[in-house]
Amino acid sequence: MKKYLLLPTFLFFVNVLLAQTNLKVTNPVAEQVMLGNYNPSDFMASVVINDPATLVSAIHDEISTDSLQVYITRLSEFRNRNSGSDTLSTIEGIGAARNWIEEKFQQFSAANEDRLQTGFFQYDEEICGMSRHKNTIAVLPGMDATDHSIIIIEGHMDSRCAGLCDIDCDAEGVEDNASGTVLVMELARVMSQYSFNQTIVFMATTAEEQGLLGANAFAQWCENENIPVKAVFNNDVVGGVICGETSSEPSCPGFNHVDSTQVRLFSFGGFNSPNKGLSRFIKLEYQEELLPLVSVPMMLTIMSAEDRTGRGSDHIPFRERGYAAMRFCSANEHGNADVSDPDYHDRQHTSEDILGVDTDNDMVVDSFFVDFNYLARNATINGVAASMAAIGPKTPIEFIYQEGGDKEIYVEITDPEDYLHYRIGLRALSNDFDTIYTLVGSKIGTFQHDSPGTFLPLSIASVDTNGIESLFTGEQLPDALGVNDPTLEERMKAIELVQNKPNPFDEATTIGFYVNKKMSYQKAFIIIYDLSGMEIERIPTQIQKGMNEVLYTHGYNKVGTFVYSLVIDGNVIDSKKMIFSN
Ligand SMILES: [Zn+2]
Repeated sequence: MKKYLLLPTFLFFVNVLLAQTNLKVTNPVAEQVMLGNYNPSDFMASVVINDPATLVSAIHDEISTDSLQVYITRLSEFRNRNSGSDTLSTIEGIGAARNWIEEKFQQFSAANEDRLQTGFFQYDEEICGMSRHKNTIAVLPGMDATDHSIIIIEGHMDSRCAGLCDIDCDAEGVEDNASGTVLVMELARVMSQYSFNQTIVFMATTAEEQGLLGANAFAQWCENENIPVKAVFNNDVVGGVICGETSSEPSCPGFNHVDSTQVRLFSFGGFNSPNKGLSRFIKLEYQEELLPLVSVPMMLTIMSAEDRTGRGSDHIPFRERGYAAMRFCSANEHGNADVSDPDYHDRQHTSEDILGVDTDNDMVVDSFFVDFNYLARNATINGVAASMAAIGPKTPIEFIYQEGGDKEIYVEITDPEDYLHYRIGLRALSNDFDTIYTLVGSKIGTFQHDSPGTFLPLSIASVDTNGIESLFTGEQLPDALGVNDPTLEERMKAIELVQNKPNPFDEATTIGFYVNKKMSYQKAFIIIYDLSGMEIERIPTQIQKGMNEVLYTHGYNKVGTFVYSLVIDGNVIDSKKMIFSN
């Protein structure tokens, strides 16, 4: 048993050690800012706006569909942005593309008092025959001298065709992912006019298509340098609105279906997940700050899984290191990237991922595959949430949460910091808040709720004098008052833990158990362990008569055998093994 376990672990370790070396920021000023070694007053804007309403309406007004279209057209002209493509040409290849993005960042900086620090994050790794790779970065220094955490807004600039390392094909990669890259660029242009408390890093990554490698190198650098990463907004495939014949599950409603008013927020975990908490924060800021201003309302759908089935993106290496990270992805995708299928006719990961078509034969594209208004709406959603996270107050550290009878909850914030108000987010079984309460001018409150059931995770944000929320705390379940519990033997007899479905599986699976009689309890969890006994995740569950089920998301590209246990009030009722494969 041990032999089988040790071998892959050992290989993986060596692989990680050798994989990415010489991690380096090419601009020393940008590097020192990210490390927190700088004087904020050196980077202060001459006009500082910290009224949230003014900032939100400025971002909303200034993000331009025309800029997005100009940038995306220019990016498509580099022909092939594979991470192994040409780095010497000034006309085509990844080198020309990354240099052009950096030039644009420099222009934005020059237009805004040279406050944006631009350059590259470079790393060495053998990828598609190329040994050195560069993410393009622009760093906007934060104004808070006491909190040097950073917020990252990123999108991968590299593109591909069917061959993973094909550097000769036409790989314009417009939806995947010029769309996310230009979203990041446009936000750098607009947001660099303003001052934020936290440093914001705008980044176009490389080698996403070969395994999230550019994002992984940067996440590793942040971990090595102990940089507090507050939030990561990853944008990958954020401009298209049309379904292909195929798409990765969870999926399009049907071929040629159009959806220009929904965007999906993918993030890892369930109960007490900082990633889901970030997704809920983004949605809340959209609803409260931006929605009153917009002419086309958007639906922000918080997805259960970290990504589409079998797929991944650049938020994952950050989440793996414990940073709150999520991905924006358009509701509809043109293809599932299964280019090995001879019947694959969709655009994703092919030479067809282009700007659009010329319908009247005048040599000018007039029908576009990216909807620039939709892309602008997604940029605005990113920009507003990142701005609020970057000027908002500190997240509370601790609180007490109790549940009484008659659907009453009691909350007490036991945090040393005093803020004007607090927001209390309660949810039941969905990924969204059911109800948000505001605790006005107090740290203690009692609320009535009308959520069904007894499974009510709660999290809290502070609100400052400008009315801005912090990111939310982790979730807690209520401390219930003592009840007459059945004995452990009675419980074990009445409950049957069943095999997870599907098993083996790749990223997400359903774990169920059958309960044959109604019983009282305080807290129940499905707990996932690795074979060394280390706890991986704890998912709260209800114990209701009949079948009970929880969804477990394991994450992208991790294989092995794990154990899940049903634990009620501290007692293990039963355990089973499950297998992850690719
Ligand atoms: Zn992509």
